[in-house]
Amino acid sequence: MQLTDYPWLTEPKNSVGKILPPALLIHGVEGIGKRALANYLAQSVLCEETSSVNDPCGKCPSCALFTADTHPDFKLLTNDDEDASSSGNDLGDTKKSKHIISVKAVRSLGTFCVTKPHRGHAKVIVIDPAEHLNQSASNALLKNVEEPAEFLHFILVAKHKERLLPTLLSRCLKVNVRPPDAQEAFRWVATQIDGQCKDPYRQELSIALSGNAPLSSIRVIADEDFFSNRESILSLLSQNQIDPFALATLCEKIEVPTLQRIIYALLHDLMFLNIQQDVAFHEDKKTELGRIKRSLSNKAFSRWLSLFNDYLKSASHPLNRRLALEALFLKWPQT
Ligand SMILES: [Zn+2]
Repeated sequence: MQLTDYPWLTEPKNSVGKILPPALLIHGVEGIGKRALANYLAQSVLCEETSSVNDPCGKCPSCALFTADTHPDFKLLTNDDEDASSSGNDLGDTKKSKHIISVKAVRSLGTFCVTKPHRGHAKVIVIDPAEHLNQSASNALLKNVEEPAEFLHFILVAKHKERLLPTLLSRCLKVNVRPPDAQEAFRWVATQIDGQCKDPYRQELSIALSGNAPLSSIRVIADEDFFSNRESILSLLSQNQIDPFALATLCEKIEVPTLQRIIYALLHDLMFLNIQQDVAFHEDKKTELGRIKRSLSNKAFSRWLSLFNDYLKSASHPLNRRLALEALFLKWPQT
């Protein structure tokens, strides 16, 4: 990859310096290119033309192997079986057991960590998402990180660095990848989708909902389910008498991360309307929002928000989903 493809990654790349440390942690929000930066650094340190943190040449045998995913001195430890569409889903522990990076996976790195590089002078292990290492996996990794062979580099990638084992965290040079500002994100996204999105507000909204994270924004723009379900939920909630059963029927069919994104944005703006008489995510739906808000207080909305958060914790049990949603919408605040 070219780092110039992701201009906002230049600053975090520069903060690494010219020499890749034995342990690096790249952290930042979802959809911002953390893995791309990790791969760039790995390729550059393995490149036979540069070998320091510089643009990899892209032509040497090492770069060719890296691009073909067959470099013998590179390992990626991940749980990529996780559905990419659920990547924005942050349900705490409910799905964690399925997606942990286990101690077995870390131990499988054993020989790789101690044998000399096949080519050149370096070996790189990328672990993403590092917060999915469980306790024993973290401890096993710590042993390798504490006394690494001189040729070995670990690059940990995490959304939630506070979930890493503190002793592991303290061994890493930390690089925070921050999203670009909204205008820069808008310009970048526009070049990527190349006129495919005819609605500038949809693009703007997707960027706002993604906290300006450019790669997430592109996923949201293309998420037809999100936009059509958002429309339907707002329409049902803005009725004079809301129908909890119709809402439950609708929401049962919506994937949890999508539902979460719709509801969080809605509750944010209902409360924002009360405080600022403005909206952040519903510029196109101000009339509906006014109807949904009625004369309700933020206390009522925040009470319902905590019920919704409770629901999210149990949302992975599909048998109860319909009942749980009915119970939830029966408690939707009404005047
Ligand atoms: Zn190269």
